Amino acid sequence: MKIALDGPAGAGKSTLAKALAKRCGYTYINTGALYRAFTLKTLNEALDIDDEDVLRKALDEVRMEIEGDNVYLDGNNVKDQIYTPFIDQNISKIASNPTIRQYMSALQKKMADETENVIMEGRDIATVVMPEADIKFFITATVEERARRRMKQNEEKNIFHTYEDTLKDILYRDERDTKRKFAPLMMTKDSIVIDNTGKTLEETIEEMIWIMQKKK
Ligand code: C5P
Repeated sequence: MKIALDGPAGAGKSTLAKALAKRCGYTYINTGALYRAFTLKTLNEALDIDDEDVLRKALDEVRMEIEGDNVYLDGNNVKDQIYTPFIDQNISKIASNPTIRQYMSALQKKMADETENVIMEGRDIATVVMPEADIKFFITATVEERARRRMKQNEEKNIFHTYEDTLKDILYRDERDTKRKFAPLMMTKDSIVIDNTGKTLEETIEEMIWIMQKKK
């Protein structure tokens, strides 16, 4: 079974996808991690992605792999470097570039095709990467709750941003993710909306598993 999981930043997608994958024995693929890894590469190497030749060369040469929570960029595990406010602030430019999106969706489609039972998480999984998915979940929560969760996640990594700054970052990314020209974040006609505001992880997982069982 192929499961798409889309939704805005901080909605709890990764936590839910990981927990579901573990419970059901599915492979979990976090496509945001690939956009993050490539953003890190452009920042580390000071690449001018507006220069089409520079960008093509970087995309030809880059190696990105995902194994559970581990994300490999050119052979190095970068999982601890890609979840920072600095990456958050720079990723929208990368994610709105059509050449990069084309590359990423081809890579992600290949990953999905190679896996029988997969939970793939992102922004355009139901619309672009896996439109054939058996279930298309759209995970959401209020923007205030999403900002509080993101702040807590940052604090666990010793990154301290005020609630106001975190909220501003989330609102900025929401705006850019939903209004961009190529593959914006949106629901499909057959999306199943899961609003987990005020719900526990366990309650939401139970709801999703119930839907998956009905589909089998
Ligand atoms: O899911 P996460 O918040 O880690 O994703 C980081 C960013 O990567 C998103 O804000 C979005 O701009 C971009 N992204 C995307 N398409 C995906 C996954 C992530 O545009 N499929």
